[in-house]
Amino acid sequence: MARLTATGMSDAHNPRRGIRFAGVGVRFNDGTSALEDINLSVGPGEVVAVVGPSGCGKSTLLRVASGLTPCSAGSCEADQRNIAHVFQDATLMPWRTVIRNVEIAGELRGMDRGERRSRAVRALDLVGLGDVASKYPTQLSGGMRMRVSLARALSLEPDALLLDEPFGALDELTRETLQNELHRLFSQRGCSAVFVTHSVPEAVYLADRVVCLSPRPGRIVAEFAIPIERPRIDATRYSRDFADICGQVSAVLKGVGST
Ligand code: ADP
Repeated sequence: MARLTATGMSDAHNPRRGIRFAGVGVRFNDGTSALEDINLSVGPGEVVAVVGPSGCGKSTLLRVASGLTPCSAGSCEADQRNIAHVFQDATLMPWRTVIRNVEIAGELRGMDRGERRSRAVRALDLVGLGDVASKYPTQLSGGMRMRVSLARALSLEPDALLLDEPFGALDELTRETLQNELHRLFSQRGCSAVFVTHSVPEAVYLADRVVCLSPRPGRIVAEFAIPIERPRIDATRYSRDFADICGQVSAVLKGVGST
């Protein structure tokens, strides 16, 4: 039987590699309050999933971490130079080859040509796309395009990854394959990650902790440590422990009115 623990803030915070939200609130100019009093520490190498009803502020939380949205209250401590953000849409440039799409991340950070090319090659190998480097995005499947987007983020060799529903638009089977790849990458690279998902099984499968937000303005209403051993494998998804934890997270979400 899984032991599920509601956890407090992790004290494993390392300001060089982790992310810390301290009393974060976000209110937009039109008066919309998206987040309220968010206290969350993501330690080095830790993977945290954020779940909650649509519009509760999950994407805003990631945008605060990557410096795209300022806090209106509290603060977010994160080394933004070492953070990479992966969006739901792969946002590839159709006129650029796969490898040149990956290289754009290094270009934007002012990396020299040789360095960004060798990083792009490594990142494409990591996501299993070394053999399509010279193809164009239209020649790839949806799952492959998401892998390119992931490779673009990985080419920055970040200490932390922010993933905003990266597999939301994919079919179930592709999604599970990519979850396995992401799980392997998290383990190999040891980088921390905060990812947003609507899928409770995806959250439980990938994360060390699952954080549940209330409807807008999002507040943390529950936090679950996931005690399932790593590495997690396909069989994990059919285990009793896995089902128990998913049930408990879902119950919290239903309680706050998630759809
Ligand atoms: P989620 O990712 O949980 O679906 P978001 O973080 O995208 O939610 O948005 C939270 C709330 O803030 C939503 O009600 C959304 O409409 C609103 N919102 C997001 N960005 C802005 C903005 N720039 N100006 C005003 N309201 C916004």
